Amino acid sequence: MEEKKKRPAIPENVKRELWIKSGGRCEFRGCNKYLYKDGVTKQPRNLANIAHIVSWTPTEPRGNQNSEKLATDISNLMLTCSEHNNLIDDPRYVEMYPVELLQQYKREHEERIYRVTGMGQEYGVRIIKMFSKIQGQVSIIGDKAVSEAIMPYYPLESDIIIDLTQVEDVTSAQKQIERAVDLHIKSNSNEESYSVFIMAKIPYACYLGYALGNKVKSVSHQFFRDTQDWKWRDGEFGHFYVSKPKVEKTEDEVNLLVEISGNIDRRLVPNNIMYSIKAENPGFMFIQSKEQLLEFQIKFRELLNEIRDIHGEEVKINLVIAAPNPISFEIGKCIMKNIDPTIILYDKVDNEVSYQNVMCLHSRIRRE
Ligand SMILES: [Zn+2]
Repeated sequence: MEEKKKRPAIPENVKRELWIKSGGRCEFRGCNKYLYKDGVTKQPRNLANIAHIVSWTPTEPRGNQNSEKLATDISNLMLTCSEHNNLIDDPRYVEMYPVELLQQYKREHEERIYRVTGMGQEYGVRIIKMFSKIQGQVSIIGDKAVSEAIMPYYPLESDIIIDLTQVEDVTSAQKQIERAVDLHIKSNSNEESYSVFIMAKIPYACYLGYALGNKVKSVSHQFFRDTQDWKWRDGEFGHFYVSKPKVEKTEDEVNLLVEISGNIDRRLVPNNIMYSIKAENPGFMFIQSKEQLLEFQIKFRELLNEIRDIHGEEVKINLVIAAPNPISFEIGKCIMKNIDPTIILYDKVDNEVSYQNVMCLHSRIRRE
Protein backbone atom coordinates (compact mmCIF):
# COMPACT_ATOMS: atom_id res chain seq x y z
CA MET A 1 0.00 0.00 0.00
CA GLU A 2 1.36 3.37 -0.98
CA GLU A 3 1.39 5.83 1.84
CA LYS A 4 0.61 9.47 1.09
CA LYS A 5 3.23 11.75 2.56
CA LYS A 6 2.01 13.80 5.48
CA ARG A 7 2.59 17.51 5.70
CA PRO A 8 5.28 18.09 8.31
CA ALA A 9 4.01 19.76 11.47
CA ILE A 10 5.29 23.26 12.04
CA PRO A 11 7.13 23.44 15.35
CA GLU A 12 5.55 25.56 18.08
CA ASN A 13 8.51 27.94 18.30
CA VAL A 14 8.27 28.65 14.55
CA LYS A 15 4.53 29.28 14.84
CA ARG A 16 5.10 31.61 17.76
CA GLU A 17 7.70 33.58 15.82
CA LEU A 18 5.35 33.90 12.85
CA TRP A 19 2.49 35.13 15.04
CA ILE A 20 4.71 37.76 16.57
CA LYS A 21 6.26 38.92 13.30
CA SER A 22 2.90 39.17 11.55
CA GLY A 23 1.22 40.91 14.48
CA GLY A 24 -1.53 38.28 14.26
CA ARG A 25 -2.73 39.77 10.97
CA CYS A 26 -3.09 38.39 7.44
CA GLU A 27 0.12 39.07 5.52
CA PHE A 28 -1.52 39.17 2.07
CA ARG A 29 -0.93 42.70 0.73
CA GLY A 30 -3.86 44.97 1.53
CA CYS A 31 -5.73 42.45 3.75
CA ASN A 32 -4.28 42.86 7.24
CA LYS A 33 -7.24 41.00 8.77
CA TYR A 34 -6.86 40.46 12.50
CA LEU A 35 -6.76 36.68 13.00
CA TYR A 36 -7.42 36.18 16.67
CA LYS A 37 -11.01 37.31 16.99
CA ASP A 38 -14.23 35.97 15.57
CA GLY A 39 -15.66 38.52 13.15
CA VAL A 40 -19.18 38.20 14.51
CA THR A 41 -19.02 37.20 18.17
CA LYS A 42 -15.76 39.13 18.81
CA GLN A 43 -14.63 36.23 20.99
CA PRO A 44 -10.98 35.20 20.90
CA ARG A 45 -10.62 32.59 18.16
CA ASN A 46 -7.74 31.41 16.02
CA LEU A 47 -8.63 32.18 12.41
CA ALA A 48 -5.10 31.95 11.07
CA ASN A 49 -3.78 29.72 8.31
CA ILE A 50 -0.10 29.14 7.86
CA ALA A 51 0.54 29.37 4.15
CA HIS A 52 3.63 28.08 2.37
CA ILE A 53 5.24 30.35 -0.17
CA VAL A 54 7.09 27.38 -1.70
CA SER A 55 4.76 24.43 -1.17
CA TRP A 56 5.90 21.68 1.15
CA THR A 57 5.72 19.24 -1.76
CA PRO A 58 7.31 19.76 -5.22
CA THR A 59 4.06 19.09 -7.11
CA GLU A 60 1.96 21.72 -5.36
CA PRO A 61 1.95 25.53 -5.91
CA ARG A 62 5.45 27.02 -6.27
CA GLY A 63 6.93 23.70 -5.14
CA ASN A 64 10.50 22.82 -6.11
CA GLN A 65 13.46 20.68 -5.14
CA ASN A 66 13.77 22.62 -1.87
CA SER A 67 10.18 22.01 -0.82
CA GLU A 68 10.97 19.58 1.90
CA LYS A 69 13.68 21.73 3.42
CA LEU A 70 11.44 24.83 3.39
CA ALA A 71 8.35 23.12 4.82
CA THR A 72 8.92 24.43 8.34
CA ASP A 73 11.24 27.32 7.60
CA ILE A 74 9.96 30.65 8.97
CA SER A 75 11.19 32.53 5.88
CA ASN A 76 8.84 30.42 3.74
CA LEU A 77 5.72 30.81 5.89
CA MET A 78 3.03 33.47 5.88
CA LEU A 79 0.26 33.96 8.38
CA THR A 80 -2.93 34.48 6.36
CA CYS A 81 -6.68 34.44 6.58
CA SER A 82 -8.30 31.38 5.00
CA GLU A 83 -9.51 33.39 2.02
CA HIS A 84 -6.00 34.44 1.02
CA ASN A 85 -4.51 31.06 1.82
CA ASN A 86 -6.99 29.57 -0.65
CA LEU A 87 -6.37 32.28 -3.21
CA ILE A 88 -2.61 31.88 -3.46
CA ASP A 89 -2.90 28.09 -3.76
CA ASP A 90 -5.83 28.11 -6.18
CA PRO A 91 -4.61 26.51 -9.46
CA ARG A 92 -6.55 29.13 -11.44
CA TYR A 93 -4.63 32.05 -9.91
CA VAL A 94 -1.40 30.50 -8.75
CA GLU A 95 0.60 32.12 -11.57
CA MET A 96 -0.40 35.53 -10.30
CA TYR A 97 1.40 34.82 -7.02
CA PRO A 98 5.00 33.83 -7.74
CA VAL A 99 7.49 33.21 -4.93
CA GLU A 100 9.11 36.67 -5.20
CA LEU A 101 5.80 38.49 -4.90
CA LEU A 102 4.70 36.56 -1.81
CA GLN A 103 8.10 37.07 -0.24
CA GLN A 104 7.65 40.77 -0.86
CA TYR A 105 4.18 40.73 0.81
CA LYS A 106 5.67 38.98 3.82
CA ARG A 107 8.62 41.35 4.07
CA GLU A 108 6.50 44.52 3.73
CA HIS A 109 4.00 43.33 6.28
CA GLU A 110 6.52 42.25 8.87
CA GLU A 111 8.54 45.44 8.51
CA ARG A 112 5.42 47.51 8.98
CA ILE A 113 4.34 45.56 12.07
CA TYR A 114 7.80 45.98 13.55
CA ARG A 115 7.79 49.72 12.92
CA VAL A 116 4.27 50.38 14.11
CA THR A 117 4.55 48.33 17.28
CA GLY A 118 7.82 50.12 18.05
CA MET A 119 6.05 53.40 18.56
CA GLY A 120 5.93 54.82 22.02
CA GLN A 121 3.73 57.33 23.75
CA GLU A 122 5.34 60.23 21.91
CA TYR A 123 3.38 59.25 18.81
CA GLY A 124 0.00 59.79 20.42
CA VAL A 125 -2.11 62.74 19.27
CA ARG A 126 -5.48 63.92 20.40
CA ILE A 127 -8.16 64.06 17.70
CA ILE A 128 -10.53 67.01 17.42
CA LYS A 129 -13.58 66.44 15.23
CA MET A 130 -15.89 69.31 14.47
CA PHE A 131 -18.91 69.16 12.20
CA SER A 132 -21.94 71.26 11.35
CA LYS A 133 -24.65 71.14 8.76
CA ILE A 134 -23.42 72.37 5.40
CA GLN A 135 -26.31 73.23 3.10
CA GLY A 136 -28.54 71.11 5.31
CA GLN A 137 -26.22 68.07 5.14
CA VAL A 138 -24.04 66.50 7.80
CA SER A 139 -20.95 64.52 6.81
CA ILE A 140 -19.47 61.76 8.94
CA ILE A 141 -15.81 61.86 9.92
CA GLY A 142 -14.88 58.16 10.07
CA ASP A 143 -12.53 56.78 12.73
CA LYS A 144 -10.66 54.55 10.31
CA ALA A 145 -10.02 57.38 7.87
CA VAL A 146 -8.79 59.52 10.77
CA SER A 147 -6.34 56.84 11.96
CA GLU A 148 -4.99 56.45 8.45
CA ALA A 149 -4.59 60.18 8.00
CA ILE A 150 -2.45 60.66 11.10
CA MET A 151 -0.10 57.69 10.54
CA PRO A 152 2.54 57.13 11.88
CA TYR A 153 0.86 58.84 14.84
CA TYR A 154 -2.00 57.18 16.64
CA PRO A 155 -5.10 58.62 18.33
CA LEU A 156 -5.00 58.95 22.10
CA GLU A 157 -8.01 57.95 24.20
CA SER A 158 -11.29 59.74 23.52
CA ASP A 159 -11.70 62.20 20.68
CA ILE A 160 -12.81 65.75 21.33
CA ILE A 161 -16.10 66.07 19.48
CA ILE A 162 -17.60 69.46 18.67
CA ASP A 163 -21.02 68.71 17.23
CA LEU A 164 -22.58 71.88 15.84
CA THR A 165 -25.40 70.20 13.93
CA GLN A 166 -28.02 71.45 16.39
CA VAL A 167 -26.85 75.03 16.89
CA GLU A 168 -29.31 77.71 15.95
CA ASP A 169 -26.98 80.65 15.39
CA VAL A 170 -23.39 81.73 15.14
CA THR A 171 -23.19 82.98 18.72
CA SER A 172 -24.17 79.63 20.20
CA ALA A 173 -21.69 77.89 17.89
CA GLN A 174 -18.95 80.23 19.13
CA LYS A 175 -19.90 79.49 22.74
CA GLN A 176 -19.85 75.75 22.13
CA ILE A 177 -16.43 75.95 20.50
CA GLU A 178 -15.08 78.04 23.39
CA ARG A 179 -16.47 75.58 25.93
CA ALA A 180 -14.82 72.62 24.21
CA VAL A 181 -11.51 74.45 24.02
CA ASP A 182 -11.67 75.54 27.68
CA LEU A 183 -12.68 72.11 28.90
CA HIS A 184 -10.30 69.91 26.96
CA ILE A 185 -7.47 72.02 25.77
CA LYS A 186 -6.82 75.02 28.01
CA SER A 187 -6.85 72.69 31.00
CA ASN A 188 -4.40 70.34 29.34
CA SER A 189 -1.05 70.84 30.97
CA ASN A 190 0.84 67.96 29.37
CA GLU A 191 1.29 69.69 26.04
CA GLU A 192 -0.58 67.28 23.84
CA SER A 193 -0.61 67.66 20.07
CA TYR A 194 -3.91 67.87 18.24
CA SER A 195 -5.02 66.63 14.84
CA VAL A 196 -8.03 68.55 13.64
CA PHE A 197 -10.75 67.23 11.33
CA ILE A 198 -13.43 69.69 10.32
CA MET A 199 -16.57 69.29 8.21
CA ALA A 200 -18.20 72.59 9.02
CA LYS A 201 -19.10 76.02 7.73
CA ILE A 202 -16.22 78.42 7.10
CA PRO A 203 -16.87 80.75 10.08
CA TYR A 204 -16.87 77.80 12.52
CA ALA A 205 -13.61 76.39 11.14
CA CYS A 206 -12.10 79.83 11.44
CA TYR A 207 -13.36 80.34 14.96
CA LEU A 208 -12.02 76.99 16.15
CA GLY A 209 -8.57 78.05 14.92
CA TYR A 210 -8.97 81.37 16.70
CA ALA A 211 -10.09 79.76 19.96
CA LEU A 212 -7.21 77.26 19.89
CA GLY A 213 -4.64 79.87 18.95
CA ASN A 214 -1.07 79.22 17.97
CA LYS A 215 0.26 78.25 21.38
CA VAL A 216 -0.98 74.67 21.19
CA LYS A 217 0.43 72.30 18.60
CA SER A 218 -2.24 71.46 16.07
CA VAL A 219 -2.34 70.11 12.54
CA SER A 220 -5.46 70.33 10.45
CA HIS A 221 -6.44 67.79 7.83
CA GLN A 222 -8.45 68.06 4.69
CA PHE A 223 -11.03 65.70 3.27
CA PHE A 224 -10.21 64.71 -0.30
CA ARG A 225 -13.36 63.97 -2.27
CA ASP A 226 -11.61 62.07 -5.04
CA THR A 227 -9.98 59.48 -2.77
CA GLN A 228 -12.42 59.84 0.16
CA ASP A 229 -9.60 60.19 2.65
CA TRP A 230 -7.84 62.80 4.82
CA LYS A 231 -4.23 62.07 3.93
CA TRP A 232 -2.02 65.01 3.00
CA ARG A 233 -0.22 64.40 -0.28
CA ASP A 234 3.46 64.65 -1.15
CA GLY A 235 4.65 66.65 -4.11
CA GLU A 236 4.86 70.11 -5.55
CA PHE A 237 1.54 71.93 -5.66
CA GLY A 238 0.35 75.47 -6.41
CA HIS A 239 1.36 78.68 -4.65
CA PHE A 240 -0.39 81.80 -3.32
CA TYR A 241 -0.31 85.36 -4.55
CA VAL A 242 -1.02 88.53 -2.66
CA SER A 243 -2.51 91.62 -4.22
CA LYS A 244 -2.83 95.03 -2.61
CA PRO A 245 -4.82 98.15 -3.43
CA LYS A 246 -3.21 101.47 -4.25
CA VAL A 247 -4.12 103.51 -1.22
CA GLU A 248 -3.69 107.24 -1.17
CA LYS A 249 -5.14 107.93 2.21
CA THR A 250 -5.37 105.75 5.25
CA GLU A 251 -8.64 103.89 5.17
CA ASP A 252 -10.42 102.93 8.36
CA GLU A 253 -12.00 99.87 6.80
CA VAL A 254 -10.57 97.40 4.26
CA ASN A 255 -11.52 94.07 2.70
CA LEU A 256 -9.29 91.06 2.96
CA LEU A 257 -10.30 88.36 0.50
CA VAL A 258 -9.05 84.79 0.74
CA GLU A 259 -9.64 83.13 -2.61
CA ILE A 260 -8.50 79.53 -2.52
CA SER A 261 -11.44 77.36 -3.53
CA GLY A 262 -12.95 80.00 -5.78
CA ASN A 263 -13.03 83.66 -6.74
CA ILE A 264 -14.97 86.20 -4.73
CA ASP A 265 -17.18 88.61 -6.64
CA ARG A 266 -15.88 92.04 -5.71
CA ARG A 267 -19.27 93.65 -6.27
CA LEU A 268 -20.72 91.66 -3.34
CA VAL A 269 -18.31 92.59 -0.59
CA PRO A 270 -18.61 95.53 1.85
CA ASN A 271 -16.35 98.28 0.40
CA ASN A 272 -13.85 98.81 -2.35
CA ILE A 273 -10.44 98.64 -0.72
CA MET A 274 -9.34 95.11 -1.61
CA TYR A 275 -6.46 93.15 -0.25
CA SER A 276 -6.38 89.58 -1.45
CA ILE A 277 -4.49 86.37 -1.00
CA LYS A 278 -5.24 84.05 -3.83
CA ALA A 279 -4.46 80.56 -5.08
CA GLU A 280 -2.66 80.57 -8.41
CA ASN A 281 -5.59 78.58 -9.78
CA PRO A 282 -8.46 78.59 -7.29
CA GLY A 283 -10.55 75.43 -7.00
CA PHE A 284 -11.71 72.78 -4.53
CA MET A 285 -8.67 70.63 -5.27
CA PHE A 286 -6.08 73.37 -4.95
CA ILE A 287 -4.88 72.49 -1.44
CA GLN A 288 -3.13 69.12 -1.44
CA SER A 289 -0.17 69.31 0.91
CA LYS A 290 0.91 70.47 4.35
CA GLU A 291 3.60 72.60 2.71
CA GLN A 292 0.88 74.66 1.03
CA LEU A 293 -0.73 75.29 4.43
CA LEU A 294 2.59 76.50 5.74
CA GLU A 295 3.13 78.83 2.78
CA PHE A 296 -0.37 80.17 3.28
CA GLN A 297 0.21 80.84 6.99
CA ILE A 298 3.36 82.82 6.28
CA LYS A 299 1.86 84.93 3.50
CA PHE A 300 -1.39 85.53 5.37
CA ARG A 301 0.46 86.60 8.49
CA GLU A 302 2.68 89.00 6.49
CA LEU A 303 -0.38 90.50 4.88
CA LEU A 304 -2.06 91.15 8.25
CA ASN A 305 1.10 92.89 9.44
CA GLU A 306 1.21 95.02 6.34
CA ILE A 307 -2.43 96.08 6.64
CA ARG A 308 -1.82 97.12 10.22
CA ASP A 309 1.33 99.04 9.26
CA ILE A 310 -0.40 100.91 6.43
CA HIS A 311 -3.78 101.63 8.02
CA GLY A 312 -2.98 101.59 11.71
CA GLU A 313 -4.27 99.29 14.38
CA GLU A 314 -7.68 100.91 14.48
CA VAL A 315 -8.53 99.77 10.97
CA LYS A 316 -11.42 97.36 10.65
CA ILE A 317 -10.74 94.33 8.45
CA ASN A 318 -13.65 92.72 6.61
CA LEU A 319 -12.53 89.16 6.04
CA VAL A 320 -14.20 87.17 3.24
CA ILE A 321 -13.12 83.57 2.81
CA ALA A 322 -13.59 81.09 -0.03
CA ALA A 323 -11.40 78.25 1.16
CA PRO A 324 -11.44 74.69 2.44
CA ASN A 325 -11.66 74.08 6.19
CA PRO A 326 -7.93 73.69 6.90
CA ILE A 327 -7.22 77.15 5.44
CA SER A 328 -10.08 78.73 7.41
CA PHE A 329 -8.75 77.03 10.53
CA GLU A 330 -5.22 78.34 9.88
CA ILE A 331 -6.56 81.87 9.39
CA GLY A 332 -8.10 81.76 12.87
CA LYS A 333 -4.88 80.38 14.34
CA CYS A 334 -2.76 83.12 12.73
CA ILE A 335 -4.56 85.98 14.46
CA MET A 336 -2.50 87.55 17.24
CA LYS A 337 -4.84 88.41 20.04
CA ASN A 338 -2.94 91.36 21.52
CA ILE A 339 -1.76 92.89 18.30
CA ASP A 340 -4.17 92.56 15.41
CA PRO A 341 -6.90 95.02 14.46
CA THR A 342 -10.56 94.09 14.67
CA ILE A 343 -11.53 91.43 12.14
CA ILE A 344 -15.13 90.93 11.02
CA LEU A 345 -15.98 87.77 9.15
CA TYR A 346 -18.30 87.99 6.17
CA ASP A 347 -20.05 85.05 4.57
CA LYS A 348 -22.95 84.18 2.30
CA VAL A 349 -26.02 83.73 4.49
CA ASP A 350 -29.18 81.92 3.42
CA ASN A 351 -30.34 83.34 0.14
CA GLU A 352 -28.67 86.72 0.43
CA VAL A 353 -26.75 87.66 -2.69
CA SER A 354 -24.06 89.77 -1.06
CA TYR A 355 -21.74 88.82 1.77
CA GLN A 356 -23.09 89.51 5.26
CA ASN A 357 -21.40 90.25 8.57
CA VAL A 358 -21.66 86.92 10.40
CA MET A 359 -19.19 87.14 13.24
CA CYS A 360 -16.72 89.37 14.97
CA LEU A 361 -13.77 87.03 14.76
CA HIS A 362 -11.43 89.24 16.72
CA SER A 363 -11.86 92.58 18.43
CA ARG A 364 -8.92 94.85 18.91
CA ILE A 365 -7.66 95.16 22.42
CA ARG A 366 -7.07 98.83 23.04
CA ARG A 367 -3.65 99.65 24.34
CA GLU A 368 -3.28 102.78 26.43
ZN1 LIG B 1 -6.29 37.93 4.12
